[in-house]
Amino acid sequence: TTDRALPGARPVSAPRGTELNTLGWQQEGVLRMLMNNLDPEVAEHPDGLVVYGGTGRAARSWEAFDAMVRTLKTLKADETMLVQSGKPVGVFRTHEWAPRVLIANSNLVGDWANWEEFRRLEDLGLTMYGQMTAGSWIYIGTQGILQGTYETFGAVARKRFGGTLAGTITLTAGLGGMGGAQPLAVTMNDGVAICVDCDVTRIDRRIAHRYLDTKAENLEHALALAVEARDAKRPLSIGLEGNAAEVFPRLLEMGAPIDIVTDQTSAHDPLAYLPLGIELADMRTMAEKDPGYFTDESRKSMAAHVKAMVGFADRGAEVFDYGNSIRDEARKAGYDRAFDFPGFVPAYIRPLFEEGLGPFRWAALSGDPKDIAATDRAILELFPENEHLRRWIEMAGEKVAFEGLPARICWLGYGERHLAGLKFNEMVASGELSAPIVIGRDHLDSGSVASPYRETEAMADGSDAIADWPLLNALVNTSSGATWVSIHHGGGVGMGRSIHAGQVCVADGTELAAQKIARVLTNDPGMGVIRHVDAGYEHAADVAAQRGVRIPMREN
Ligand code: NAD
Repeated sequence: TTDRALPGARPVSAPRGTELNTLGWQQEGVLRMLMNNLDPEVAEHPDGLVVYGGTGRAARSWEAFDAMVRTLKTLKADETMLVQSGKPVGVFRTHEWAPRVLIANSNLVGDWANWEEFRRLEDLGLTMYGQMTAGSWIYIGTQGILQGTYETFGAVARKRFGGTLAGTITLTAGLGGMGGAQPLAVTMNDGVAICVDCDVTRIDRRIAHRYLDTKAENLEHALALAVEARDAKRPLSIGLEGNAAEVFPRLLEMGAPIDIVTDQTSAHDPLAYLPLGIELADMRTMAEKDPGYFTDESRKSMAAHVKAMVGFADRGAEVFDYGNSIRDEARKAGYDRAFDFPGFVPAYIRPLFEEGLGPFRWAALSGDPKDIAATDRAILELFPENEHLRRWIEMAGEKVAFEGLPARICWLGYGERHLAGLKFNEMVASGELSAPIVIGRDHLDSGSVASPYRETEAMADGSDAIADWPLLNALVNTSSGATWVSIHHGGGVGMGRSIHAGQVCVADGTELAAQKIARVLTNDPGMGVIRHVDAGYEHAADVAAQRGVRIPMREN
């Protein structure tokens, strides 16, 4: 269970301001980010130490949390704390260039790497599920999902529509916790979106949070609003109450002028997808009473839903799976063309990964939003020619409410990230920022994850399941001077399905921090470039050649 309080639970939030609670800013950065992950504004179920993503935890128990805090408070600048699945297990003398904390979360030996065995060990108190940024203390709330969705739709725009969604209509479904980012991500790219959800409270909630613009009375009304806005090239997002398995086929039948189709209903769990013929109000009880029948009905409806998506693709629309396994569920119902459209990573994200591009993020340890505003301005000055980045930074400044310590995310690649990191470090040194900045990233990045159902689906050379890359990533970041480094298993897609690594650096304004940042923020995205060169991606090879990434097998 995810929302159960664990013994010792109490509200936690990161200290703000410039007074140290530890022996230095490197240790202080770790302490504040561990606490920030458990801030009730940030974590889904802080009492149970759950940050996000099912049961992704920041610490194994409150006792372990207390021990980590205690240890960090006395940890010296040449010592390293070791964390085994959310529990501190040792402190060793290392050196100043070494990470202050090394983390390994949820790792199991191959043949044992399944949920059943994991749960058994978790019940014994021997491990915890670290997700990606929960157990590695660099989760920054829902800004991350909005930015990722903005990038995906931006990539769709570049691939098919000349760089903008202006004048296009996107059809999607699912306005839940993560899917709710879709309407805003489409309008941020200047497009029009029709977003179907069977639960009107989800539609109202997105409107209240300003992620969705308006609600249509019915399907005809939604289409009329969409066409009018499209013709005026005016961004607009429209919520439509209905079951996607019914609405999508009807729109197809009507010949609706839809340019882009995707879906973020909770299709990964057939008991969370509303089948045709069942009322929303009866969904819970029906699913509990007869899960077998419900699953069959749900899959049948998903087949109708996916068949309509394939129908739109046949007509030339841009159609993609958004990582919710709807294709596989439709296939299980016997629909044989379910995989006729691609997943979003091979379709749009991989070309970005080839350049080492991925979700770069930072947080202000001062707690002062002015520090993030100053870093936003610095990013715009550093990359004045990047229009897509400018749009994001400006809109994020207006629309994103901070959760916990003020933070920002944007996608930067090889040759860019270290420039941003060095600039932030200078701004700390000069006093332009009121306290140090931590700089990290998601594990969903170009060179830090092996995940054959998501980030490494359909690699050109078939190397989807090769997990040497994330391990090398953690080793090179450890060798380059990151402040903390983590190796996790099972994040995003579950036990047995992924291995991934993370790094975070503290920009404390010192010369030493500058030297470390220059190396880490070059080598870390560099892993993405070399991983894709190795898999045979020519664009990655061009990037390596142009930007000077050494590839021994291509040297003679
Ligand atoms: P959620 O459970 O919060 O929301 C799902 C929404 O779908 C709900 O609002 C529900 O009412 C609606 N829904 C269910 N059945 C429907 C139907 N038949 N017709 C119309 N609406 C229906 O889930 P979430 O957190 O928003 O995530 C959605 C899905 O997207 C998940 O499967 C998740 O794994 C996936 N996801 C993937 C990625 C990625 O790979 N990049 C990112 C985010 C989410």
